[in-house]
Amino acid sequence: MTKQTLSFQAEVKQILHLVTHSLYSNKEIFLRELISNASDACDKLRFEALHHAELLEDAPNLEVRVAFDAEAKTITITDNGIGLSSEEAVANLGTIAKSGTREFMSALAGDQKKDAQLIGQFGVGFYSGFIVADRITVESRRAGLPAEQGVRWSSEGAGDFEVETLTRAARGTSVTLHLRDGEEEFLSGWKLKSIIGKYSDHISLPILMRKEEWDAEASKQVLKDEWAPVNKAAALWARSKSEITPEQYTEFYKQISYDTEAPLAYTHNRVEGRSEYTQLLYVPAKAPFDLWNRDKRGGVKLYVKRVFIMDDAEALMPVYLRFVKGVIDSADLPLNVSRELLQESRDVKAIREGSTKRVLGMLEALADSDDVAERAKYAAFWKDFGVVLKEGVGEDHANQERLTKLLRFASTHADEGVSFADYLSRMKEGQEAIYYITADSLAAAKSSPQLEIFRKKGIEVLLLVDRVDEWMLSHLYEFDGKPLQSVAKGSVDLGKLQDEAEKKQAEEAATAFKPMLDRLKATLKDRAKDVRVTTRLVDSPACLVVEEGDMSGHLARLLKQAGQSAPKSLPTLEVNAEHALVKKLEASANFDDLANILFDQALLAEGGQLEDPAAYVRRVNALLLA
Ligand code: ADP
Ligand code: MG
Repeated sequence: MTKQTLSFQAEVKQILHLVTHSLYSNKEIFLRELISNASDACDKLRFEALHHAELLEDAPNLEVRVAFDAEAKTITITDNGIGLSSEEAVANLGTIAKSGTREFMSALAGDQKKDAQLIGQFGVGFYSGFIVADRITVESRRAGLPAEQGVRWSSEGAGDFEVETLTRAARGTSVTLHLRDGEEEFLSGWKLKSIIGKYSDHISLPILMRKEEWDAEASKQVLKDEWAPVNKAAALWARSKSEITPEQYTEFYKQISYDTEAPLAYTHNRVEGRSEYTQLLYVPAKAPFDLWNRDKRGGVKLYVKRVFIMDDAEALMPVYLRFVKGVIDSADLPLNVSRELLQESRDVKAIREGSTKRVLGMLEALADSDDVAERAKYAAFWKDFGVVLKEGVGEDHANQERLTKLLRFASTHADEGVSFADYLSRMKEGQEAIYYITADSLAAAKSSPQLEIFRKKGIEVLLLVDRVDEWMLSHLYEFDGKPLQSVAKGSVDLGKLQDEAEKKQAEEAATAFKPMLDRLKATLKDRAKDVRVTTRLVDSPACLVVEEGDMSGHLARLLKQAGQSAPKSLPTLEVNAEHALVKKLEASANFDDLANILFDQALLAEGGQLEDPAAYVRRVNALLLA
């Protein structure tokens, strides 16, 4: 192939622009990215060589070499991994195949730190070389191809790149960065070693650099021909816990997660027994921007006996723990395990169960800690990840009880952090149920008329305002033997919480009010299933409730928003016979209007939408003028 000039895909151009214009405050990441690619290339070769040993040729020891040339102002990262064919060089270094790129572009915050982190997350790492280089040359030969089928790829990181055929005896890839003026600080063995130590210590291949020697005559360091490893080259998780410092755990986390912040918690264990494996699992401190996306692949990497098998092995973690990052290294799985096989494997099932328990244990340790700072960490965790953990209540029946203990809510008692245990400890004498209300927002929940009697009696009500809550509640009926009871469903029966005098008074009011109820029922027959007198209201004239077993108005609205049809069932209107407005009904000349206004207001108060807002306005105006 003669020299060809090709144009970068549009997305690549955008990324190149971003890389060179906004990431210069975090320049040194280029080395981490290129070493990570070199290491990936070696992993790929090792994996293919399981079935095709000949690919290893005469160089079975996989390694990465980092060299610099102060005169030529270049840094070269060389690996003897899988290499690239010409086609692969064009495709992999000229386009971004990943569908995540568009998401990436839209997620950019214009905040350098965050953007730098995203670059890694979305796998556009190679281009980070252009932060410090104004030209990058890649020379490569794919394992298994003859020497004459090597490739040279070269670009200045603007609109296009060149490719041409090359004869290259060595298998693998060399990436040479021609540094921009002003980037000479990287032309130092000490500097490069310190960056490698910071980011790439855990890479399980040797990273070699040439030894240096002090030349007294020239009074400078000179490079020797001898190469020596500059990293530990031992997979962190395979080392014993006592040898690993908290800083190393944190640094490793940052490596695999591309998070710039330290993790909230981690757990590292070697599990022995029927299934043998090592797990190193982290809970991040902050939620990623796409946490809500259930299709997002997980963050746990699978290794088998230190050999990297795959990223994002979903089968290793339940969906509701998709925020967990880390590594699982199995001693039992076959090296050629596929995603399909993973789904069915009993060993994987055991690993998933064991890992789920570990993660829950880690969260419980924070939540139940005697240490205030640890509990504050749990509160922070809950704020970011609580909605996802709630999915587990419905999905993971085996761990449902443990999960419900980890739930935290807002209530009429406190705006956040209320656990079921807290609630139980504050229950009133004679209270038999855990009361809750669902709504679109905390403000709406707090001002629900249905809460009035509970407020008056000092009974706590949980305020559930996450979209996932309704779904969760369809899987959760009780806690510690106490049923969960919506305050917006069925008639209020406060049972033992109501004294005899109150009950009697309510009954009398209902009898006296009977003729009025009949009129209301007749007027509202197309809108309300029933109209009845209630004791649940104190300040409001009326509210809507649904019957036990019917869908709540809130859930019906959520379904409608999601484009699903909700079964049509009419609500019940409950009126407060003591309220001045209700008393006024009797003598009112516009009975029909007032009755409809009562109904409409009750609907508005629970966050519902009027079917005919104009009619409502007309009626209110008529009343205002009367
Ligand atoms: P990622 O590593 O997430 O795939 P990069 O931008 O870092 O994204 O690299 C893009 C692609 O270029 C890689 O997926 C790989 O196919 C190819 N590549 C980069 N560096 C090397 C290398 N040293 N050896 C072989 N292929 C490489
Ligand atoms: Mg990469």
